[in-house]
Amino acid sequence: MASTRTVLIVDDSSSDRGNIAGFLEDYYDIIDTGNTSEAYEILNSNPGKIVAVILDITSDGTYGEEMLRFMKKKENLSKIPVIMTADTESEETEINALSAGASDFLYKPYSPVIVKKRLDNIIKLNENASMANDLQKDHLTGVYSEEVFCQKAIGILEENPSTDYAIVYSDIENFGLIKDLFGENAGNNILVYMARVFKHFISKNELCGRLEAEHFVLFLKYDKETLDENLESVVKIINDFPVNMNIMLRFGVYKIEDRAMPIQAMFGRAILTVETIKGRYGQYVAYYDQEIWEKQMHEQEIINCMEDALREKQFIVYFQPKYDLGSERVAGAEALVRWQHPSKGFMNPAEFIPLFEKNGFITELDKYVWDTTCGYIETWIKNGYPVVPISVNVSRTDIYNPDFIEIMLGIIHKHNLEPENIHLEITETAYTDNPEQIIEVVKQLKLIGFVIEMDDFGSGYSSLNMLNELPIDILKLDMGFVQGDMGTNSNNILSFIIGLAKWMDYAVVAEGIETEEQIQILRNMDCNFVQGYYYAKPMPPDEFEAYMLRHNILDRIDEISAPGMSELKFKKSQGVMLIVDDLALNRKILSTSFSSYFKIVEKENGAQAFEYIKENYKDIDVIMLDLVMPVMDGFTLMRHIGSDKKYKNIPVIVTSQGGEKSVEKSFELGATDFVEKPYNLRIILHRVQNAVMASRRKEKDVEI
Ligand code: C2E
Ligand code: CA
Ligand code: CA
Repeated sequence: MASTRTVLIVDDSSSDRGNIAGFLEDYYDIIDTGNTSEAYEILNSNPGKIVAVILDITSDGTYGEEMLRFMKKKENLSKIPVIMTADTESEETEINALSAGASDFLYKPYSPVIVKKRLDNIIKLNENASMANDLQKDHLTGVYSEEVFCQKAIGILEENPSTDYAIVYSDIENFGLIKDLFGENAGNNILVYMARVFKHFISKNELCGRLEAEHFVLFLKYDKETLDENLESVVKIINDFPVNMNIMLRFGVYKIEDRAMPIQAMFGRAILTVETIKGRYGQYVAYYDQEIWEKQMHEQEIINCMEDALREKQFIVYFQPKYDLGSERVAGAEALVRWQHPSKGFMNPAEFIPLFEKNGFITELDKYVWDTTCGYIETWIKNGYPVVPISVNVSRTDIYNPDFIEIMLGIIHKHNLEPENIHLEITETAYTDNPEQIIEVVKQLKLIGFVIEMDDFGSGYSSLNMLNELPIDILKLDMGFVQGDMGTNSNNILSFIIGLAKWMDYAVVAEGIETEEQIQILRNMDCNFVQGYYYAKPMPPDEFEAYMLRHNILDRIDEISAPGMSELKFKKSQGVMLIVDDLALNRKILSTSFSSYFKIVEKENGAQAFEYIKENYKDIDVIMLDLVMPVMDGFTLMRHIGSDKKYKNIPVIVTSQGGEKSVEKSFELGATDFVEKPYNLRIILHRVQNAVMASRRKEKDVEI
């Protein structure tokens, strides 16, 4: 088999060259020459192509050994394996050659099988070694991977106990934006360029590595002056990147004091350090210092006591009302957590939420907040207080939890509530992380009946593009829009966004409202809801209860649900909604949405459903029927239902993937309506309402 791998043969005897070439040309491309100067040229003009050299020790009168030594000294040639050949056996020559870097040694006359075997082995060995070498390096940029970086740094620290070193962590503040604007490739080009710049500044016993994304780490000798100079130069050079992208590069420097600390912990300190200058224009280097250390200790203390705090119920839920701008009545409230710490005192969420979001504890705290909130709503309902929907905050970590929906539904049911009692506030940045997954979860939440608010809208950047893909109900504007000077310019943006949102059928909430003037402006822009200190600050539950009793509350919660979502006109009936679908999730979506209106009965296939219908047809108000099911599909079930007059008055709503054929056939077989999956809750509510009302009327007609 022909191969693209090339072997170079250097031997002054043309017959010996021809001999070897004869054995090998079936397996390798062969280039051969009788003198070493030509050999150098061949090597230089075929970089990366030559996979091995077979070099005669006495070729050209000059010694082959000289060429071997030369190759081993040149960086680009040193990795090519060399097999030396000689006419006469000599242990001394062989040892000399091997210690000068030859990979193997062969004596003439050649045995074709041995030559081939040895050559194959050597080439393979070399390829494996270079692969192992590749694994140590970051693929894109060729700098060290995190693991190798750490190993090497430990080694250097041990070998140079009296030299001072520092870990430098680099961050590009707007890297996500750059990738969005200029493309993934441009982003990669920047990284490759940066790696090259860093390598340029690195000398012996210093290292460059890449952690994740745009973050490089450097291990450098510590000398503040040189370091400052070098980092400044790097920033200048990167800013001169061929295309002007306004790259905001910053460094956090941790001078290594505690050499026994794990290198990753040193990264941690450098990262904390760079975070202190995030967003500060013109400041690109920060050094780890006492203040950062204290902050770190404080954060550590918080983390140490968070679990006890949760167990001991030190977290308290406050409520801040939301107002309907039109009627100026309370239309909802947001649940906001506080921490009443026995020794640290009262803490605002800004002090601990970001930490919990980093370490994952937020999922535990949020569960607690949701549960507590629902507990309050349950009591309010029980006591006959006016209730409004309460918004709870949902972190992005919560949404990535595969049990999220289950947990939420569990809490709602535990407190005998309906999904519409709760609004979910999900911050805008969550959508930019992993949009597909979030969109999927949000769709399901909406189907179940939760109202979804996009929190802090406008604080990110992908927002406008994504709006039309997002299944949300309400936009909650980032506080910055309102709290800026509200000059003409930002007013234009504000009115544009509110206009856009309305056009897309979203309601708009503005938060951070502190003045009468802001309210006037928002009212003129037809903003729906407001929340802010002007009306009320977040308050503890008992105060909020009193407040609700004193104030005008919107009497129907549906008024502030998604606009267009009208109230079901039929009262809870004693009748049954029979849900026939083989997928549990589909059944759950429907049963949750309709459990307050019907008695729900679920069946997994047509056969089971028909058994039930035969016994209970008088109780059934409506059948929700999937078409594709094992055992007995939806069409067959409809044929059975259609075959007996007794069952004819039961409305059947087919819920299935669309397709004109299925729709037509369903109607032929007597379906009352057809709702396409995936469901849109608003549509399905209307369809069910229409179908049930129509059939009740029909029954009455019959009676009359
Ligand atoms: P957020 O969701 O944007 O909540 C609004 C914040 O604005 C609250 O701060 C609220 O007290 C404050 N605020 C309301 N009206 C005004 C006003 O007129 N002027 C000013 N300057 N501020 C106003 P808070 O309670 O300190 O909460 C801060 C953030 O912490 C929240 O921002 C939210 O992201 C997070 N958070 C609070 N509670 C929870 C929770 O239970 N779970 C999660 N995951 N996050 C929470
Ligand atoms: Ca919020
Ligand atoms: Ca917000």
